[in-house]
This record gives sequence, C-alpha cells and structure tokens, in this order.
Amino acid sequence: MPIPNPDYPFKKVPIPEPIRKDGAGASDLGPRDIARDLENPDMLIPPVTDAGNVPNLKFSFSDTHMNLYHGGWSREVTQRELPIATTLAGVNMRLKPGGVRELHWHKEAEWAYMLQGKARISAVDQEGHNFVDDVEEGELWYFPPGIPHSIQGMEEGCEFLLVFDDGSFSESHTFNISDWLAHTPKDVLATNFGLEIKDFEQLAEKRKFIFQSEVPPGIESQTIKGPKGFPPEGFSFNLMAQKAIKTSGGCARIVDSTNFPISKTIAAALVEIEPGGIREMHWHPNNDEWQYFIKGKGRMTVFASAETARTFNYNPGDVGYVPFAFGHYIQNTGDEKLVFLEMFKSNRFADISLNQWMALSPKEVVKDNIDASPALMAALRKEKWPIVK
Ligand code: MN
Ligand code: MN
Repeated sequence: MPIPNPDYPFKKVPIPEPIRKDGAGASDLGPRDIARDLENPDMLIPPVTDAGNVPNLKFSFSDTHMNLYHGGWSREVTQRELPIATTLAGVNMRLKPGGVRELHWHKEAEWAYMLQGKARISAVDQEGHNFVDDVEEGELWYFPPGIPHSIQGMEEGCEFLLVFDDGSFSESHTFNISDWLAHTPKDVLATNFGLEIKDFEQLAEKRKFIFQSEVPPGIESQTIKGPKGFPPEGFSFNLMAQKAIKTSGGCARIVDSTNFPISKTIAAALVEIEPGGIREMHWHPNNDEWQYFIKGKGRMTVFASAETARTFNYNPGDVGYVPFAFGHYIQNTGDEKLVFLEMFKSNRFADISLNQWMALSPKEVVKDNIDASPALMAALRKEKWPIVK
C-alpha cells in the first residue's frame, strides 16, 4: 500500500520493508514508525558490507528538548544525546527580531554559523578591546573560552548553529549576567558600582537567557568608543566569501586558524555535494569529526577497523559523528544539493584521501595488496579530489 512521501506529500511511495533483493529479511508487522523508516533506508536495509557493532553516530535536533522563550528558542546535541561525541557539542538557536541571547560567557570556545537571517554580536576581550558586528547567512564567528558576548536578532530574525569545543558542554551551564547579579548581595552590587542599594531594586530577579527586546538601532550607534578599540584578530568571518575548492561533484570551503586566526580550537569545512556526488573516501589524521546537515539527503558509511562498518542516513538538522581516524565517505542520495558542515576540535583542517594515498604509494604494493584491476590502477589520482561524481 503506498503512503504519502514525507518530502513530497503530493507523491506516494511504497511502504519500505526490511527485505533485501536476495530475499533476506521479512516484513515489519509493526508497531513501527514508517516516516522514520523512510528517512533511514540504509538502516532499515543495511548494505551487505556493514558488519559488527559500530556505536551510534547520529542524533537529530528533532529528537532534542526545545527550550522556548519569548525571544526565540534553543536546543542542543551534546555528549548526553550522542555519547560518542566527546570533542564538540552543538546548539541550534533561533532569535526573533530583537530577541537577545543575553550577555554571558562560558568555559568552552564558541564557533557559530549563521543559517538564516541576521544577528548583531558583541564581545569584549581581556585587554578591553570591544567588538560589535552584524553577521548574516554564510558568515560565522568564534569566541575564545571565557570571552563575554551577546547575540541579538536583527529585523528579519535569525537561526544559527553554535558549536563548542567540549562534548560535555551544556548551554544551561553558561555564565549569564542576569544570573550572577541576581545571586550577589545588593550591598555588594552597590559598592561594586559606586551606587546605593535602591539603585538595584529593579534588577532582573533571575536568569533571562533569551528574552525579547527591540530590534537594535544602526551599528554605529552601538559601537562604544573604548580605550583599546577593535580586537586585533576579529571574532567574525565570511565563509561564503572564501574561494571554494571546486571539483567535479561539488565544492568545499575551509575555515581554520590559517585564514581565521582567532579560531584556534575549531576547524571546519562547508561542503556542497551535487546529486550523484560523493565526498571521497578519506579520514582525518587530527581528531573526531562532528557534522551538521543543512540541506538535502546523505548517507555515510564509517569503517571502524576490526572488520566492522556501519551506514547511516542523514537529513537536514541531523548531527553526524566520525571518531578519530575512522574511514568514511558522504554520498548525496537525494535529488537536490547536499550541504553540510564538518567540524573538528583542531586549529587546522586536515584529511587524507584514500585515492591519493594509493596513487602515491609503490604501484606493486597497492596492486598486490588489494588485487587491484588494471582499470583501478590506471584511474588512481595523484591530486586530492574531495568531491567526485
Ligand atoms: Mn555563548
Ligand atoms: Mn570527513
């Protein structure tokens, strides 16, 4: 019996069953969640090459707890949701026009990518440099650990992804200005600011976290003339303005401390894969990979050594994870562009291409090692070709 396709409700699709073409498997009598099975075809019917018990490497923001406020919302995927993700954690946040993520700081560095809309960000560093900037789609920012900052939605509001350089991060453990002042004796506040206790009677009584305010005025009027001026290394970066590495199946833009010097603990690549394309088989010699899927449909098989491998499907809003050194590819399985972020707790982006490794190794060894055909030996590429089609 066909049912509505969740991606194209006007079309119908057959109910998927966990049965391979060779007859292995049997129908699922239920109870079952057909919408989820349609989203995860390679988990319902894994490729025959999958083997062993590879840990879970996927968590969807749709399966998280939403924190709703009058100025917007936030939700997080941390080590609590995805236990293997020890290096990085992510928060997805939405701010309405004028909505503010309040003045705060945290122990972890914060890297953020604007998904839609526009925000005004502000920060002050330990030297007294002060920073304010407007960040829109395709741009990002990085705040080192402990640097206080704020984020506010502009006229159109915004939604963004925040990534922190510790998997055990939680946004509920950030240091918020309203929280601190509400937990300080009023006589101390009076002395600290050189005022009287009555001057603190209207202070917020508890943490605001996200709250509704007015859309900010022009950026010039919000740029305080400070003693040290603008920080020597800016906190924001225009990723989409970077020259893309273009190959036959798509393109990638890389940001790390070589082109964005302040970003000392987080490196990232924004990858776009055309339909039918694959982010080539590779691994990373520096650290785990934390992925965020923005558009399209993809699948990834992770090779975990010891004759084990597991395949996952990813949709927009999903987080993927690849433990350090595990081999993998990412394939566009949809009919539109697949766009995702790959992120590393590292000062540099680094990957090793299977194809290039084979092409640059002694031919006889490669050929005999895998019983390679003459066609394969002839097709090996000495240049990296990150996205193939
Ligand atoms: Mn923050
Ligand atoms: Mn990778």
